[in-house]
Amino acid sequence: MTEVGWDADPDVAGWRGLARLGEDLRADVCVVGLGGSGLAAIGEVLRRGLSVIGVDAGRVAAGAAGRNGGFLLAGPATGIHRAAARWGPDAALELYHQTLAEITDLAGLLGPEVVRRVGSLRIAGLPGEPVAESEAADREAELADCDQQYDFLREHGIEVRRYDGELGTGLFLPEDAAMNPARRALGLATRYSSESSGARLFENSPVTAIGTGRVRTPGGVVSAGLVVVAVDGRLEVLLPELTGRVRTARLQMLATEPVRAGRLPCPVYGRWGYDYAQQDQAGRLFVGGGRDRFAEQEWTPHADPTEGVQAWIEQVAARFAGGPVRVSHRWAASVGFTEDGRAVVTEARPGVIACGGYSGTGNLVGPVAARAAVALGLDGTAPAACFSS
Ligand SMILES: Cc1cc2nc3c(=O)[nH]c(=O)nc-3n(C[C@H](O)[C@H](O)[C@H](O)COP(=O)(O)OP(=O)(O)OC[C@H]3O[C@@H](n4cnc5c(N)ncnc54)[C@H](O)[C@@H]3O)c2cc1C
Repeated sequence: MTEVGWDADPDVAGWRGLARLGEDLRADVCVVGLGGSGLAAIGEVLRRGLSVIGVDAGRVAAGAAGRNGGFLLAGPATGIHRAAARWGPDAALELYHQTLAEITDLAGLLGPEVVRRVGSLRIAGLPGEPVAESEAADREAELADCDQQYDFLREHGIEVRRYDGELGTGLFLPEDAAMNPARRALGLATRYSSESSGARLFENSPVTAIGTGRVRTPGGVVSAGLVVVAVDGRLEVLLPELTGRVRTARLQMLATEPVRAGRLPCPVYGRWGYDYAQQDQAGRLFVGGGRDRFAEQEWTPHADPTEGVQAWIEQVAARFAGGPVRVSHRWAASVGFTEDGRAVVTEARPGVIACGGYSGTGNLVGPVAARAAVALGLDGTAPAACFSS
């Protein structure tokens, strides 16, 4: 049962695989990590007409990029109104608009089958009546926070509607989207490694050393003028100098057998975003959460699901389903957090630019950061204020 629910999709299960790096090669740019962010960096290098080699320790999107909730939510992890208070409104709005544009670009590249532009729903608490007094009080506080988010979005001309329906009360953001994250990454890898695009991508090629202009794997060394390290979780393991700037946490999920079709019309998140679920077209739920309930034990570089968190997510899944669920898959993956919620785009070593630390929502911020990493490395363009350099 400890397998990734998204991998049951025929497009993912039928992935043809890529070769392992087996010789020394040279390119303008080497990208380490073939998740959504690394693949965006590769797309950006190709767009500039340069040569690029990408390597991953496992399959394309072996990490969080292929194992996440599949939410495509514009804006920062903490909610735009909170990020605006912390980083300033301009920085928060810039990230909002860039991530919104990222949804549109992804939908254009991969089509509506992969990127479903169905919006997203933020609700206060979880679906159903509160089961404890503390839950009721927390829901009131969260409703007030929804009001603040609504006001901020409206004030800045961003589409938002109030929601009051079967799943609870909160906000509907019509421009957000949903996807099977593994399909996104494999779709991009297929596209960029095609003969006409020309990126050379390698799986099962773990990087054992990174230096200026050189990336070593057991099967060969890549020489490149610029190295981009696009790894979210465990970034500080690969580049120890980033310890203290990014901290790895585990996030866990499960998938269920189909429940009532149409129960979740779009990705739904509640309880301050800690718990979340989306339903695929076959009716299965993909549900995650509970990190705050197990905060200390989830600060770990390990990525195996645990009994306690899974039991929590299972009862969350029942709330989202509106009745009992049967679990079919359980899994976990690593992500990077930063102190102030700003992702890192930084020159970690001379000629080595690292990006990561998306604080739990890197499906869109990751690609935006990865492009900023390429621009920093190739043009010396300083990253925008929504990033920490
Ligand atoms: C359970 C869960 C739910 C989530 N839900 C959402 C969500 O709904 N929406 C959202 O926006 N975000 C979500 N996130 C966060 C999101 O998944 C990540 O922020 C994002 O996928 C990071 O992508 P990435 O490409 O930057 O990095 P990663 O996914 O971390 O990819 C890095 C790649 O680098 C490879 N790698 C690592 N070390 C090496 C090495 N030494 N050599 C070579 N390759 C290496 C890995 O194999 C991996 O494929 C969730 C995360 C989890 C775990």
